[in-house]
Amino acid sequence: MDDTSIEQFDAVIIGAGFSGLYMLHRLRSLGLRVHVLEAAADVGGTWWWNRYPGARCDIESFDYSYSFDPDLEQDWTWTERYATQPEILAYIGHVAERFDLRRDISFGTRMLEARWSDGTAQWSLTTDTGRRLRARYCVMAVGCLSRANRPRFDGMDEFTGRILHTGEWPHEGVDVTGLRVGVIGTGSSGIQSIPLLAQQAEQLTVFQRTPAFTLPAMNAPLDPDTVAAFKARYRAHREATRHSNGGVLTTLAEESVLTVDAEERDRRFEAAWGSGTLFGLLSSFSDLMIDPQANELAAQFVRDRIAEIVTDPVVAERLSPRSFPIGTKRLCLDTGYYATYNRPNVELVDLHAEPIDRFTATGIEVGGREIPLDVIVFATGFDAMTGALLAPDIIGRDGITLREKWSEGPRAYLGIATSGFPNLFTITGPGSPSVLTNMLVSIEQHVEWTAACIDWLEQHGARSIEATAEAENGWADHVTEVAGFTLYPTGNSWYLGANIEGKPRVFMPYIAGVEIFRTVCDDVAANDYRGFAISR
Ligand code: NAP
Repeated sequence: MDDTSIEQFDAVIIGAGFSGLYMLHRLRSLGLRVHVLEAAADVGGTWWWNRYPGARCDIESFDYSYSFDPDLEQDWTWTERYATQPEILAYIGHVAERFDLRRDISFGTRMLEARWSDGTAQWSLTTDTGRRLRARYCVMAVGCLSRANRPRFDGMDEFTGRILHTGEWPHEGVDVTGLRVGVIGTGSSGIQSIPLLAQQAEQLTVFQRTPAFTLPAMNAPLDPDTVAAFKARYRAHREATRHSNGGVLTTLAEESVLTVDAEERDRRFEAAWGSGTLFGLLSSFSDLMIDPQANELAAQFVRDRIAEIVTDPVVAERLSPRSFPIGTKRLCLDTGYYATYNRPNVELVDLHAEPIDRFTATGIEVGGREIPLDVIVFATGFDAMTGALLAPDIIGRDGITLREKWSEGPRAYLGIATSGFPNLFTITGPGSPSVLTNMLVSIEQHVEWTAACIDWLEQHGARSIEATAEAENGWADHVTEVAGFTLYPTGNSWYLGANIEGKPRVFMPYIAGVEIFRTVCDDVAANDYRGFAISR
């Protein structure tokens, strides 16, 4: 091998979304030579790819932003309570500009293989553009929801119209005016895009397998006084969110819903419904995510709202989730979702009653009838939490791939490291709170911990750090155990890998929350990285 063509770095980061950009900033400020590989043409990660109509955040803008730089949060001004995808992408672009990050990023470059060498204690990486890089540290900052799930249907290749995926939406946009559009999937992406597609399309058909619970976002523009008042207390707010459970300021009520009368119960549920927050409803009583009977009361409250909004009782019932406890599949926040089914140009197909037989040249056949379509939108989600980590060949010690190692489900110590893969860090990986929290708070926590760890290794002249199998197994068992105290594992969710055929069912995120997790991680670091083997 001709070594002159190998680019040498201290650290290579995969991904230039929120986590990769902050990781680059932190490692560069340690004086390391760092490079980022990014498949997309610019920064943004999930916000670069997910450009479907209606794409916006379900965490409030003030919280869904970096906290690491007080000047940044003062200089940037959000315009809506829940920011749209273009505004979030503009924010990420602003951050990249402000910290001069793009100069250390190769765009349009996908990492294909990362191979560990015990001899050199380095990772060797190859890319789809023929580049070869070497680095002591490899940081996977690839996002939890970034590998599109594209189910196959009979006859798909015969369809002559357009097939789109919400997670890979064309950058030039799609005008569906006068067209017949079908949407498969009613998770967050479907629920956000369906109202807007319905306004534009001549006819919209929604193919629903499992109805989702969604709450009104109550989105609104932010007025200058609100922004100024928030900015005045931003620092204190950030500190509180860093030490919160979900990375946002929601307090879990102390009372069981089973101990209050119906009036008090409805008062709290109504308040939560009207609050337009993702976590409000499930936090309004102590036991909604623990006790099936308690959970059912919250679920019925939402079903009653659906029945109020949707004028056709048959459609309302079809939209009413009954097959899983509320909250065990991620809740959605919407703007006008249920009311969209009152439009004359919208049809809801229940795939349990009328399964998809096949795609045809001109549409989709369900239950023996053909629904003619010009555009089919897959809002079918992602191979969550592990999909993007397992897509490239990551080859650890003794030639074992991460895919082989995780064939029965992911096991990562603190979600950040896995045995047999020294000096490999997985930001918000399986086993960390990640998707159950405000991602920005969890990303910052993992990035800061990783940067401090790498700094420590450098200061101590260490060659490598590696999770021990014992610590990793103990952590994975703990993650499973705490999830088992709740109703979460009872829903067929992507948290469990249940949305992907053949994927091992493991409850992947750590349910105990940001604050407890931060304490554990800090304690590990303070004890010379307990649970890790360090070689010098
Ligand atoms: P999702 O929640 O996994 O929803 C996918 C939908 O597609 C589900 O309704 C699913 O039905 C359906 N589906 C999948 N395969 C199917 C098949 N073969 N046939 C018929 N239907 C099928 O994916 P998502 O909506 O993209 O959201 C994923 C996550 O991304 C969210 O939970 C959220 O964390 C994040 N997200 C957030 C926002 C936001 O508001 N900021 C927006 C988009 C995404 P089943 O339920 O039956 O599997």
